[in-house]
Amino acid sequence: MHTTIQLSANTQHYLDLEDKYGAHNYHPLPVVIKKGLGVHMWDVDDKRYYDFLSGYSAVNQGHCHPTIIEALVEQAQTLTLTSRAFHNNLLGEYESFITAYFGYDKVLPVNTGVEAVETAIKLSRKWGYEVKGIPDNKAKIIVCSANFHGRTVGVISFSTDPTATRNFGPFVPGFESIPYNDLAALEQALQDKNVAAFIFEPIQGEAGVMVPDEGYYAGIRALCSEYNVLMVADEIQTGLCRTGNMLACDHEHVRPDMVILGKALSGGVLPVSAVLADDEIMLTIKPGEHGSTYGGNPLACKVAIAALKVLKEERMATNAAEMGELFRDELKKIDSPHIDTIRGRGLLNAIVIKHANPEAAWDLCLELMKNGLLAKPTHGDKIRFAPPLVINREQIMDCVNIIRKSLQVLD
Ligand code: PLP
Repeated sequence: MHTTIQLSANTQHYLDLEDKYGAHNYHPLPVVIKKGLGVHMWDVDDKRYYDFLSGYSAVNQGHCHPTIIEALVEQAQTLTLTSRAFHNNLLGEYESFITAYFGYDKVLPVNTGVEAVETAIKLSRKWGYEVKGIPDNKAKIIVCSANFHGRTVGVISFSTDPTATRNFGPFVPGFESIPYNDLAALEQALQDKNVAAFIFEPIQGEAGVMVPDEGYYAGIRALCSEYNVLMVADEIQTGLCRTGNMLACDHEHVRPDMVILGKALSGGVLPVSAVLADDEIMLTIKPGEHGSTYGGNPLACKVAIAALKVLKEERMATNAAEMGELFRDELKKIDSPHIDTIRGRGLLNAIVIKHANPEAAWDLCLELMKNGLLAKPTHGDKIRFAPPLVINREQIMDCVNIIRKSLQVLD
């Protein structure tokens, strides 16, 4: 068993360019994409694939969704950036739209996901000092082991993944890591009166789609309320219909104190992220204390409104729930000794590969690629399956057949 891939001269040309002139901070599959539409992408040789990564869940609405692209093009020809030195005519409209959409008093708009996580950390600390009354410089934030919240020095300071941290120290203090899906550990950590917030992923995506036990979100809500600690949900990957609800926390009808959104907030069109919270938290940050040149730019505002509207108009949460269930049911019917586990919620799914060869998940992804489906291993033996939420029943069945056929490469 070993998958060999014959690359076209065309593909090799692009790979060589990136290898020579780009930093080597990623290890992509050897495929060069030039076009996307809906659930499909095409490579530079015009081969068509199903996209089972969706730009790490940024393309929930499907590639180049016409409504989102129309908003982008129209606004790009009118006004793109003013900076926050001046007002723009779309920021207020977007702020009122997104806060009504999610039911929070206020939003703080930024660009990439990790920036929104940093924003949530700063807000948590500010609230801790100015509202909760934590003594100067003592604020602590509880996080989970195996978390993934992004790549800045601040955020990797509480990563437990050696690949993310090796030789990048010294790190930012003030974080304590507890096991994921462990309410007893959380309650223990909350005994410290200087805890300002608990930041968690409702499903740990990068860790391999780790779905916590039923009752975890409600348990976090109860404990955070009891100990006067902010419940901060990083819904950057799980939010915006990906798991079959608008937010993953909706699964248990739980309202976090702060919600962090990114990725699909623009439908994969440009970096747009946001933090949602009520006034008691949000108004602790005053002019000059936080911001970003591009945060809240009119292009982003216009695109985000369109991206959010499309999610509801096209009932993407319902489709994710239904197609996700169908997908897992059909995967379970595959009779292969190489599938150890199938898990997920909505269209955020993963399989764990069982094989003597530690490269088996990578080899399977190469075989899937050959057969027209693009997916990527996350943490060794796990492969994430997260297609755009516009996928239909017939396409799911087609993809399950591709997966069934491709698994034979591991025999
Ligand atoms: N938080 C979570 C849960 C994520 O999955 C990611 C990205 O994968 C991030 C934060 C960081 O987002 P970005 O890559 O846009 O900075």
